Amino acid sequence: MVQLNYLLFTFLLLFILRSITQVILNRLNISHLRNQGHSLPEVFKDTIDQEKLRKISAYTVDSSNFGLTSSLAYQGLFLVILLSGFLPWLGKAIQQWGWGWIGSGLAFFAFLSLPANLLHIPFSLYHNFVIEERYGFNTKTFKVWIIDLWKSLALSALLGGLLLGLLLALVVHGGSIWWLWAWILVGGFEFLIMWLYPLIIAPLFNKFEPIENKELVQGIINLMEKAGLKAKEVVQMDASKRSKHTNAYFTGFGRSKRIVLFDTLLESHANEEILAVLAHEIGHWKSKHILKQLLLAEAFSLGGLYMVAKLLEWPLLYQTFGFAAPAPYVGLFLIWALLSPLGYFAQPATSALSRKFEREADDFSRQLIPRAEPMVKALQRLAADNLANLTPHPLYAWFYYSHPPLLERISRLKNTASRLQKSV
Ligand SMILES: [Zn+2]
Repeated sequence: MVQLNYLLFTFLLLFILRSITQVILNRLNISHLRNQGHSLPEVFKDTIDQEKLRKISAYTVDSSNFGLTSSLAYQGLFLVILLSGFLPWLGKAIQQWGWGWIGSGLAFFAFLSLPANLLHIPFSLYHNFVIEERYGFNTKTFKVWIIDLWKSLALSALLGGLLLGLLLALVVHGGSIWWLWAWILVGGFEFLIMWLYPLIIAPLFNKFEPIENKELVQGIINLMEKAGLKAKEVVQMDASKRSKHTNAYFTGFGRSKRIVLFDTLLESHANEEILAVLAHEIGHWKSKHILKQLLLAEAFSLGGLYMVAKLLEWPLLYQTFGFAAPAPYVGLFLIWALLSPLGYFAQPATSALSRKFEREADDFSRQLIPRAEPMVKALQRLAADNLANLTPHPLYAWFYYSHPPLLERISRLKNTASRLQKSV
């Protein structure tokens, strides 16, 4: 059984602190919306009316409450698994099969991922067919939902199993500097996945085709040429197969780099707005944001893996959670379990970095176009089409937002315009 000691208390304290922080941020954001959400910011007067504003508030409340409930449910399930004595029982049962370290480790993780995967089913159904359906976003049929579920399960079993198997092989056979080999392995794996994503993984779920809108194509050719890139690296994706949400993204690594525009975005926006969004994605490309994020992650994972190597040898880790003897796969799972609440508190740092990149991409778009108006219009339409919260609580946005709030982005675009005009 679990041991009541300082390690367990520290872990529980952090674990509960995460849940409390999530609840507080959710409440703050919703009460801020109730206070401010009924007054429409001047800049959205043309694209959003009072009825749309009420819809935005209702959607924000529904989706953030859903997010909080599902997160707390996963955390509850996780605590039960960790503290109930199930883990040492499972470890013992698997050991008796005599599958060796790697086979046993894969089986241990497979069994542990089962409850979370089962819990995912009702939450995913509710999210797609109740919440997204209620606001007119869902276009996914039940058949597509089922196929997606199987494909993502198979993909994560394959990729996760492969990485875990190799990692365990290094822990067992890699000597005292296994963590260094593991760092090279994990780093190489991340770069490979980033490269393969647009070529193999994304096409498992969506169709990617050349842009159909002929008028738009010439604009794309001109803009890409201006940035020194090839127009065929811009493709459209059949996002409307699943949802009416509109978006665009930049993905890939090396030769596989490309910009993806959702067909829903192409449908809803004027050509000059689409080109402004494209210029923003070109900004991510030219500023090498994906590479910078990857390199930063590599630096952290080197320190992280060294720490894992030290912690794996710590007897208290196993004793605390009821294991009679250390086993590398048990150690890896327990370390991941202990560190995950800490990872949550690192979120503001990753969000801040992401927002910095978004501001850089907006500035790039502003200079490439080179007018503020098309991007401002695109952001207004994106807000209306996706029912984006126009007035998030500043603390909530600071903690979670990967993009600066829309009002901030629009005023930055406009201010950049007046700065440029003044200098001329
Ligand atoms: Zn962006």
